[in-house]
Amino acid sequence: MTDCIFCKIIAGEIPAQKMYEDDDLLAFRDVNPQAPVHFLVIPKTHIPTILEAEAGLLGKLLFKARELAVQEGCGERGGRFVINCREDGGQTVDHLHVHVLGGRSLGWPPG
Ligand code: 5GP
Ligand code: ZN
Repeated sequence: MTDCIFCKIIAGEIPAQKMYEDDDLLAFRDVNPQAPVHFLVIPKTHIPTILEAEAGLLGKLLFKARELAVQEGCGERGGRFVINCREDGGQTVDHLHVHVLGGRSLGWPPG
């Protein structure tokens, strides 16, 4: 999708601190980190939200998010895996992404 910022990152048109890439997924650090560890895992195809994603892709996304979280040092103390969705979820980029946050104690519930 031409006006999607994450599609532009996938295409290499916008720089990002990439952590992992395969045929289906890309992971990169969030430009505005909310914790010492904060990265995003996205599908390479433009899927707007979790509501449009199929089961296999969701499995791949979450499994890779978990794997990278462990790699980033969140295996012992954990962290948070977040998928914001549409208006009420506060989604600001309409390309499905899993946030992974860790490296500090995170508050709950969200505001
Ligand atoms: P949302 O609010 O949609 O769940 O999260 C979007 C996330 O994407 C935000 O945490 C924001 O900081 C991040 N983000 C937005 N634009 C860019 C960008 O150009 N590069 C990177 N690395 N992250 C971005
Ligand atoms: Zn996109």
